[in-house]
Amino acid sequence: MSAAAASAPRKVNVRTPEVMERVQAEVEKHYRSPLVEAVRAQGSVLQIGQTTVRLAREFGFCYGVERAIDLAYAARRVFAEKRVFLLGEIIHNPEVNRQLSEMGIISIPVGKHEEEVAKLTHEDVVIVPAFGAETNLMKLISSRGCLVVDTTCGDVMSVWKRVRGYAKGGFTSIIHGKASHEETRATSSRAMGDDGNGHYLVVLTLADVDFVCDYIRHGGDRDLFLQRFSAASACSPGFDPDLHLQRVGVANQTTMLKSETEEIQRRLQQAIRDRDGGSDGNFQVFDTICGATQDRQDGLFDLLKKPLDLLLVVGGYNSSNTTHLVEIGEQQLPTFFIRTSECLTSLEQIIHFDLHLKAEKTSYSGKLADLAAEVTIGITAGASCPNNLIEDTLLRIFALRGVPAAQVRQAVGL
Ligand code: SF4
Repeated sequence: MSAAAASAPRKVNVRTPEVMERVQAEVEKHYRSPLVEAVRAQGSVLQIGQTTVRLAREFGFCYGVERAIDLAYAARRVFAEKRVFLLGEIIHNPEVNRQLSEMGIISIPVGKHEEEVAKLTHEDVVIVPAFGAETNLMKLISSRGCLVVDTTCGDVMSVWKRVRGYAKGGFTSIIHGKASHEETRATSSRAMGDDGNGHYLVVLTLADVDFVCDYIRHGGDRDLFLQRFSAASACSPGFDPDLHLQRVGVANQTTMLKSETEEIQRRLQQAIRDRDGGSDGNFQVFDTICGATQDRQDGLFDLLKKPLDLLLVVGGYNSSNTTHLVEIGEQQLPTFFIRTSECLTSLEQIIHFDLHLKAEKTSYSGKLADLAAEVTIGITAGASCPNNLIEDTLLRIFALRGVPAAQVRQAVGL
């Protein structure tokens, strides 16, 4: 097939019953935890001696992540003889990405997508991650004739539908998200509409939103505006704040903090009302936070209603939904964002990611150290964290507190 011949991606369905049976067995072997399931079954609390661990009501793999991993494993099995590539990371968890790499799936780093995809042929398979991919990249993949296994989550595609609708109606999409995040990049590309004439602006912080609201109400320095957003690749090519803030539709990355997203929606709506004499005619909004993100945030709020000495949030440091769980925890108690159980290096020392420094660091906590004292530890994890990592963390806590793994398993009847 010539490069120019393909016009739509050659999407393939790898989910045949025979393949899925094998895949599910493999996925369960890699990521399942009977121990975590047993703790959940007894009310998500495990107390042995002076040590209590409480798990959040909802944590770990969501339906979108489970589907993406199943499809990636299936692609490897179905195309055993072919080169199988992945655009970046399937999800933001290093353990899962390591497993895929060990299976021979080749990750193309985000900064090199165009360059590397341009070298692929119709013999190659490309896996699109759960976050989706930008329209231009999908066109390039099509032009190379590659086979495509598309794992984009349905909830992400719902956001695309919404921003396409905004573009069709002449509304600029204001997207609450991180401009460099794969999902937001994919969504931004759809906000330009089917004809490519639409516009978008990505806002991350309340300070960004206040800056935009001020411009909506009073106008301002156009160059300063463009400097702020185009430098961060947070607006569409040709974006003009004097033209493209007239009619706005708000959407968000699916994994944002709900309370912050709602505040952003409220501030933008008020700015448009103030400018337009109280009218909402130039404003549309649709909350696109996904159910899984919402459930995990709600599950953590529930967990925090009970007294805890410290909270561990397990997951990849670049995972958006996990980061927001850390933010929620930090407001209430000592919270540590750990990648794996190995971050609990001793009773006093924890290696963890500091959201404010944007770096991993080592902290010292006396909470676990006194073995004679009662301690209660909460654990949660984002939608990209497998249960086996939660199991490791749980066992590590008890091991540090002098309770061997066999005793932990016995306590839940395993
Ligand atoms: S976190 Fe939400 S959007 Fe992302 S894969 Fe899971 S369900 Fe889909």
